[in-house]
Amino acid sequence: MKRDYYEVLGVQRNANDDELKKSYRRLAMKFHPDRNPNDAQAEANFKEAKEAYEVLSDASKRRLYDQHGHAAFESGMGGGRGGAGFADVGDIFGDIFGDIFGGGARQRGPRRGADLRYVVDLELEEAVFGIEKEIIVPTVIACEPCNGSGSTDGVVETCSTCGGQGRVRMQQGIFSVQQSCPHCGGTGKRIKNPCKKCQGAGRVESEKTLKVKIPAGVDTGDRIRLSGEGEAGPNGAASGDLYVEVRVQSHDIFQRDGNDLYCEVPIRFSQAALGAELVVPTLDGEALIKVPAETQTGKLFRLRGKGVKSVRSHSTGDLLCRVVVETPVKLTKRQRELLEEFEGTFEGADAHAHSPRASSWFDGVKRFFENMTG
Ligand SMILES: [Zn+2]
Ligand SMILES: [Zn+2]
Repeated sequence: MKRDYYEVLGVQRNANDDELKKSYRRLAMKFHPDRNPNDAQAEANFKEAKEAYEVLSDASKRRLYDQHGHAAFESGMGGGRGGAGFADVGDIFGDIFGDIFGGGARQRGPRRGADLRYVVDLELEEAVFGIEKEIIVPTVIACEPCNGSGSTDGVVETCSTCGGQGRVRMQQGIFSVQQSCPHCGGTGKRIKNPCKKCQGAGRVESEKTLKVKIPAGVDTGDRIRLSGEGEAGPNGAASGDLYVEVRVQSHDIFQRDGNDLYCEVPIRFSQAALGAELVVPTLDGEALIKVPAETQTGKLFRLRGKGVKSVRSHSTGDLLCRVVVETPVKLTKRQRELLEEFEGTFEGADAHAHSPRASSWFDGVKRFFENMTG
């Protein structure tokens, strides 16, 4: 059970920014991992306070939280739609503690490689049925000659700055704080003979060709996480992750709305009047819709289960066909004669009785003029 953010920070619900910052600062100093090494409870408290502060110090997030509580920020990562995510511990640390702790992001041990985002464009069919795509991602990979180590011969020395500790103590006013060693990046070691290709970094810029399995049913904005396929970490550290974000192209026939598909089906007015069976396209072949007599333009016909199979559940959307009555063109002499004869049948008859839309339209027009003159 998650604690209330206001309770975590020990402030009133109407606390202002100053009060929030003060309270957060007090808690963060108390529970900061640098001051409580190997204390899991302190770290949990630190993260809790930081999360609470991140939400409450952001006006729009705070509004969401006040309205919906924790539910406002619950989101499924990995394939899900991105929600209001939280930055890693240490992220906003710099701006709030910069003045006391001498700035610089906190680091614990070797850093992991950066996460990458790659947008893949898909045809509608590819998104609906799933596909394996080959993508070429510009990235940073482990250097080959040195195997990511950054060293020509594997000889490492102990870092003289930190004496191999990876951390240095700094006296700042009343605080004595630990910082990641700036010379060895927290590893405590230094490469004696750096690799010529990567200058000791252990990684180089390059492109990576990957095969990505896109699951059936994805839609624009969905993300697929490829663990460990992000940038290589420095000096052989773990790689980041790659997030492949899907963007579905528009389609000539079908428009997608969630798991439903829409399409327009042109129909002759005589078919609309008499009723007809129409062959309509679906993503997996053809289907038949029965259009009843006296069908008006714009009417929707639903084909259940002919939409998109959801990537997240077992449900399948529908295909909605909108019939659009089309005026015939390039009439033959015979067709013209028949239509003239047809038109003639309305003379003298109660024409409005055959045109539901026109009759309400004419009534409206009549009222409009009456109001204008009256
Ligand atoms: Zn060092
Ligand atoms: Zn190298």
